[in-house]
Amino acid sequence: MSETQSPLVLIVEDNPTNLMLIVAVLRRAGYRTVTAVDAATAAARLAEERPDAIIMDIQLPGEDGLTFTSRLRADPATAAIPIVALTAHAMKGDRERALAAGCDGFFTKPINTRTFARELAEVLSRHPGDLSRSVTTERGRGA
Ligand code: MN
Repeated sequence: MSETQSPLVLIVEDNPTNLMLIVAVLRRAGYRTVTAVDAATAAARLAEERPDAIIMDIQLPGEDGLTFTSRLRADPATAAIPIVALTAHAMKGDRERALAAGCDGFFTKPINTRTFARELAEVLSRHPGDLSRSVTTERGRGA
């Protein structure tokens, strides 16, 4: 698999520490990453790039992640992109709200750096959207 064929993941997260952590974990697993700190920035990124998946923090400044997800689902240009929600609060009902908004998966923070990439790959294999490239989680493991 050449570098240009690695899946591209858009990470929408306003917490800089968590954003850096997710970028590092996904890059180590062989993904390419693009980042945004809020919905408006993410929308600008999406006008330029077509990611294979989006990791969406629910609690964002400005438009929240679930409202933004609903908008992406309603837009034919972005409707098929798998979206995985991230939340700091494992509140009862959060998962149902995320799935109702159109998310394909749901992770709670803090992320488990040992399993995050594998769990993301599992979500994407169940909800591939129009993902045409397979994701391997073998690269970088065992280190
Ligand atoms: Mn947040």
